[in-house]
Formats: sequence, C-alpha cells, structure tokens
Amino acid sequence: MDLNKLVRKNILALKPYSSARGNHLSGLLLDANENTLGSCFEFENLLLNRYPDPNQNELRESLSNLIGVKKKNIFFGVGSDEIIDLIFRIFCEPGVDNVIIPEPTYGMYKVAGDINNIEVKSIPLDSDFQPDVKRIIESCNDYTKLLFLCSPNNPTGNIIEKTRIIELIRKFNGVVVIDEAYMDFAEENSLINDSKDYPNLIVLRTFSKAWGLAGVRCGFCIANEFIISLLFNIKAPYNISKLTAYSIIKALENNDRRIKLIEEIVKEREWLQAELKTLNGIDKVFDSSSNYILFRCRNARDVYRLLASKGIIIRDRSNQLNLDNCLRVSVGSRNENKKFLTALKEAL
Ligand SMILES: *Cc1c(COP(=O)(O)O)cnc(C)c1O
Repeated sequence: MDLNKLVRKNILALKPYSSARGNHLSGLLLDANENTLGSCFEFENLLLNRYPDPNQNELRESLSNLIGVKKKNIFFGVGSDEIIDLIFRIFCEPGVDNVIIPEPTYGMYKVAGDINNIEVKSIPLDSDFQPDVKRIIESCNDYTKLLFLCSPNNPTGNIIEKTRIIELIRKFNGVVVIDEAYMDFAEENSLINDSKDYPNLIVLRTFSKAWGLAGVRCGFCIANEFIISLLFNIKAPYNISKLTAYSIIKALENNDRRIKLIEEIVKEREWLQAELKTLNGIDKVFDSSSNYILFRCRNARDVYRLLASKGIIIRDRSNQLNLDNCLRVSVGSRNENKKFLTALKEAL
C-alpha cells in the first residue's frame, strides 16, 4: 500500500502556514501581535494572552505516557469531528473521490462527506450490525479512498469484530478509519495498538464520552507518522487552545476517575437493559458495549414525542437504515434511569 498515492496532490505539495508559536514558544515575544501587557480573563498561570503550542507537545506527551503510544503517532483535534473533516480533506478530491460508510452508523461521516462534496457509498451492515466484507470490497473502485467503521457502533451499541476489521484493513485499498468514541467501555477490543502494523489505519478517540468532557471539545487520533504529519500540515495552526490543553492534561492525571465512571455506567447500563426487557411493548433491546441502549418498540415516533413532551429527551433513530421503530437512550444515573422508565411505561 502506497499511502502517497492516496493523498490529494495539493495536500502533498502544500507548504504549511508557518506560525509564530510554531517557531518560538519563549523569549521576548514580539512576533505575533499578541497583547503583551496582559489579558481580560486570567486562569491559573496559563498566559492566555499568548497563542498556544501548535505542535500540542505537552498534551501529546501526557497522553503518550498514559496509553503507551508514541507521541509521533498522536494528533489532537477539536473533538473527533474536526479530525473526521481533516481526514476527508487530506484524502478525498471533491467531486471525484468516494468513501464507504456501512450503515446504520454515526451521522457525521456522511455530513462531513457531503460538506466536502465527496460521494458516500452506503453499504448496509448485516443483520448482526457487522460489516459485510465482500460487499464492501466489491463496491470499491479506483476512487474509493476511505472506509469508516464505528466500534462500538453508534447507535446500535455493538463492537465490530476485530477479525473483520483486520480483514478489511488488509483488503481495502484505502484508509480505514475506526471511530472508537465509545471504546473506553470495551477497551479490550481497541485497535489503538494496531496502527503501527497497518499504515492505512486511523483510530479516533474522544474525551466527550467516558472522560465526561464533551464541553471541552477535544478528541485525538492514532495513526502512522506520515498521516499524523499531514494532519498537522492542514489543521488550523492553533486548533487546541490553552484552556483545552490544560483541561485534558488535568483529566489524564485523573484517569482513576474515568475508570470509576465507566464501572458505574456499565453497572447502570446492565440494570437499565434488564428493566427494559421486562416492559410490555418493547420488541427488542439490543446488546450494548457502550453508554447507550438501542431498543425497538411499537410506534417509536409517538413514544419519542410523548417522552419529549414530559421533558425526557432520548434519540429517535427510526429513520436510519434498518432501524425502524428504534430509539436510543443514553445511560443516566439510577435516578434518571428510573424517571425515564416510569415515563416510558406510560408512553407504551
Ligand atoms: C459522540 C461521538 C463522537 C464524538 O465526537 P466529538 O467531536 O469528539 O465530540 C465521535 N464519534 C461517534 C461515533 C460519536 O458518537
């Protein structure tokens, strides 16, 4: 696999913007038209009047120490959503190239494709919500650049079998993006340590779910050094703010808390799943390796509306491929889950 051939020519040829703080982070800094006198908001000793480090050095070192992946294989984005968009822009020529998205899955891949004017080939997941390797490979052509897989898959909640992912990485003539936004809840299935063996693999992770930092807007990816260097070349120079970097470094020091939260969420998920299975009017409760549960019930749209009218907001997924009458609920605290169940019983 020649990664160079997959990259858009203008991106390969790009001379990246040379930013002030990319060259100098200390000294008597009169190079970036910052306010050297001070700032109108202060936080700890962050020197918010100065631009942040475009190379994300401290952040990448902290994460590298925690997860044991080399710093050169790590890139941080403004949520994984930013990274998804950057991946499209590196590999896909607008109006020419196409990507494959097995569905039902997370909606942002298609939206990012549409924004970039990239054809999206939707291939149905099989009845166990696993990718159909043969169909995927058969539907590729010379212009197929990316394959998106989400594991655990949103909104179905299942893990994509690792053997199938590896088979796809081997057979697919492009870059395979594995979105592991929820993999904290099933870490043993992660491909984070496999990217060194497969140059065409990008693994996405986020701080928005298990880490409980959706409001901070930060995600990262693990990939081959060449892909990481392209991401750095095309991103906005200062995409990760000092406030973001500070929050994430503090969070990484607090990894024990993440582990406790995961334990509690998994316990609640199992309880909620068992309760849902006892309800009349629910046709199926899908297994989940994540922090949400997908279920099928009669008149899902009406159930969704009735719950919403009581201020209980879940997600109607019944418009997605093969998910008629399916609703998705995030696992909450015991108290929240009980309120949801009470309202759901009434609605059913
Ligand atoms: C929530 C979610 C994300 C997270 O996106 P961020 O931009 O990092 O908040 C990514 N992928 C999937 C499948 C998700 O459900």
